[in-house]
Amino acid sequence: MMNETMVPEPYLEVRRWRLHDTHTGKTHTFKGQLIGAATSQRTEHNHEGVRADFGAPPCHACRWFEVRIIMTIDDEYVVSYEGFTTFERENHRSTVHRTRSPHTVIEHLTQVRNREMFIPRTSRLALSEAAGRDDGMERAWIDRVVA
Ligand SMILES: [Zn+2]
Repeated sequence: MMNETMVPEPYLEVRRWRLHDTHTGKTHTFKGQLIGAATSQRTEHNHEGVRADFGAPPCHACRWFEVRIIMTIDDEYVVSYEGFTTFERENHRSTVHRTRSPHTVIEHLTQVRNREMFIPRTSRLALSEAAGRDDGMERAWIDRVVA
């Protein structure tokens, strides 16, 4: 069932980014290169029809999220987390966090459920990609507290 994939975008290519944060209403523009990305999107639904029935749990073809970790030309990490949905009453949601600390990148992708801290598999994929392309991310990934 774990068929999360890398996002097919060019890595390590400096380009101009424009990312909107729907939570703060702020738009971030900067130049940087993608060092890690992953999506939880699946192409096929695990139920009948194009959407889960009302009240039924949506699958990863109904609703999914994408993570991007970008290194700016000013040596700042940008963590972009986007939630996508095919449900008409739900909105696309996105958050953008900027930090100079690779540890904080991991912190932004750490979630809490039932008082347990964890990093969702898609985020782990993006983080391990970033660790392979950036020394700071690699050290932080090895030294992380949460598995
Ligand atoms: Zn579905």
